[in-house]
Amino acid sequence: MSNTDINQPINPIMHTYQRFPLTIEKGKGSYVWNEKEEKFLDYTSGIATCNLGHVPDQVHQKLSNQLDQLWHCSNLYEIPSQAKLATLLTENSCYDQVFFCNSGAEANEAAIKLAKKYAKDKGNPERTEIVTFHQSFHGRTGSTMAATGQEKIQQGFSPLTSGFRYLTYNDQKALEQVDNGTTTAVLLEMIQGEGGVNQAEHAWIEKLAAICKEADILLMVDEVQTGMGRTGSLFAYEQYGIEPDVMTLAKGLGSGFPIGAMLAKEHAATTFQPGTHGSTFGGNPLSTTAGIATIETMLNEEITSQVETNSKWLKGQLDALMQEYAILKDVRGTGFLIGIELTVEAAPFIQAFREKGVLVLSAGVNVLRILPPLTTTLKELELFIQTFKEILTEAESVKS
Ligand SMILES: *Cc1c(COP(=O)(O)O)cnc(C)c1O
Repeated sequence: MSNTDINQPINPIMHTYQRFPLTIEKGKGSYVWNEKEEKFLDYTSGIATCNLGHVPDQVHQKLSNQLDQLWHCSNLYEIPSQAKLATLLTENSCYDQVFFCNSGAEANEAAIKLAKKYAKDKGNPERTEIVTFHQSFHGRTGSTMAATGQEKIQQGFSPLTSGFRYLTYNDQKALEQVDNGTTTAVLLEMIQGEGGVNQAEHAWIEKLAAICKEADILLMVDEVQTGMGRTGSLFAYEQYGIEPDVMTLAKGLGSGFPIGAMLAKEHAATTFQPGTHGSTFGGNPLSTTAGIATIETMLNEEITSQVETNSKWLKGQLDALMQEYAILKDVRGTGFLIGIELTVEAAPFIQAFREKGVLVLSAGVNVLRILPPLTTTLKELELFIQTFKEILTEAESVKS
């Protein structure tokens, strides 16, 4: 035992999160409830994870059936639900094969390993580096933290995994440095979610894709946050007219049930062979059943076209508010991954929203991040806008 004051028992949970003063005990659709049965409109979606809302019926039903059948059996045996989810993912994307894991960081770890071995298999052993971008976020494990272009994430953890080189996002000049002869892959988000909701420009991405193709550098998109309908198409890359070689998924893939995936086109995917990579839990019957139910619901109910329509309405309303309130500096993002840049800190706004029964997030110091469930209704969106108006009016009256 440590010599901690016995009157102040140490919290048995490691203090890795600065938690909001709210206990969530129940969720359904766009709402969550605390222990006092108070209701909150959840426009965080568990950080872009509960894309079909909380406890969606279709996923709930398939998961409860699977709970009676089989939970786990290891990847030493055939797993039909894994094969089915892989088929659904490859039939609805430009990819040929899938590796399953349990989180976004693990999906990116798999992509990083694939990129390193790919160059060697191709007879380019001098190509060992992976280019990533400032303000990116790729995870908290050793390699994905090193891939993340933010000092605050890496602080205290030197020596970092070597082999990553950071360039400036959306910068034309930076493209000249992508291929320095030692690059095997470029890893990037189509919208930097954690880093401030910064969206990749079309012309820049097209040029980047061309450079990668020319030099046989793998273009790898981290769609852990932008994927699974979040931006109004099943995957964000589809809106750019490109076909990246590798894509990673997690967050929304299992509607809240932990699952990650790394998808690759055939020429890259065959780099992984028996013995090169693996995961005990990856692609287990429960998580892949959640994945199947999630993707089938998204396709059957045309969720992405709902997102497109409702997001247009939301952005229109936010643009109008921007004309009215000087605190609002910029509105950006696509679909239901929306960033609202403020001229002041975002934290007091998050608290004001919570006090009025609405949950939202930030992305950096000055940006509010709005991540509604993809299934949210126009009525709920109106409630959000009404609440935001009240908060903005109060904030501006305090200022003047
Ligand atoms: C959340 C996130 C990750 C990390 O996912 P975990 O499941 O927390 O490991 C990686 N990349 C992006 C873009 C993310 O948003």
